[in-house]
Amino acid sequence: MQLNKHTFAGLQLKQICFCVFLFVLSCRLQAAQPLTATEASPIFELVTLGDAGGIQDGNLSAFLFRALSEPNYIALDAGTVINGINVSLANNAFKDVALNADKKLSLTGNILQHHIKGYLISHGHLDHVAGLLIAAPDDSNKPIYALKSVNQTIMDSYFNWKAWPNFTNKGIPPFLNTYQVIDLVPQQSISLQNTQLKVTAFSLSHSVESTAFVIEFQDNLFVYFGDTGPDEVEKQEKLATIWHYLAKQMQTKKLRGLVIEVSFDNQQPDNLLFGHLTPKWLMSELTYFYSLVEQKEQFQSMGVIISHIKYSLKSGLDPRDKIQQELQQGNTLGFNFILAKQGRRIIL
Ligand SMILES: [Zn+2]
Ligand SMILES: [Zn+2]
Repeated sequence: MQLNKHTFAGLQLKQICFCVFLFVLSCRLQAAQPLTATEASPIFELVTLGDAGGIQDGNLSAFLFRALSEPNYIALDAGTVINGINVSLANNAFKDVALNADKKLSLTGNILQHHIKGYLISHGHLDHVAGLLIAAPDDSNKPIYALKSVNQTIMDSYFNWKAWPNFTNKGIPPFLNTYQVIDLVPQQSISLQNTQLKVTAFSLSHSVESTAFVIEFQDNLFVYFGDTGPDEVEKQEKLATIWHYLAKQMQTKKLRGLVIEVSFDNQQPDNLLFGHLTPKWLMSELTYFYSLVEQKEQFQSMGVIISHIKYSLKSGLDPRDKIQQELQQGNTLGFNFILAKQGRRIIL
């Protein structure tokens, strides 16, 4: 073959093109690396038993949470339990769990009695406990973990032999002893029985005392926020306290995700928030959190799961669509927002 000037120039051009291709490919692989690494090694699973705030019985705030390495869940609030398990079963949300095969029980019964090892209750409002109360007669023995004031409300208002029999081991006798009531001390970590998880509770500002739970497994963190207003409206620094705590923890641990509420869209005036967040206020809180964290790359793979969107009886735009739009519009820092949906599982 004869090499002339043109073929030589053509070969050079091909080589240059090939090098540019390799360079672009390596840049893309590098950029994709953290996302792929995270997706390849998820640690936690979150199953949404109920995603809504307010009035939609059958779909009220409740999640099941576990480390993927064990089949035992802890419930995060319990507005809807049995119906949430049924919808999740219909959606194949438990397909990766080695389910207990107690032949005397249905799948729902096996999950309730054998796989839910305890309840973390953020506050005593009915939309966060109704499912637990209703399922109590057929539940297995397990702890209810909550701040002291929250446990007090649950026993005074529900397990009082008037609203409902006392299925706990405290309060008004006789005790049916299904639930062992455990008072959490704010900012003190304890192990959750029959799991490898640890929890640290933080008080939140709401119309009654509410709670955020920081859950820990090895070097991994996850946070569940019960109902909360923004610090600026509540005139408190309760969310700031948690953001500071998390920012410090993230120096050595990885925050995999958080569940936080957005009850109303941005049209809701501040004087009618009643201790809740809107997309605008959530962005303001998350922006402050972002400013505190040195390891900002953690935000790329962290799921920010939105809960407690108030179900609306009004005609017109679905509040979920409205809130999703508003979150996207305000999302200048690139948070990975996911709207919780009943029956769906998220791995983190
Ligand atoms: Zn609520
Ligand atoms: Zn509430």
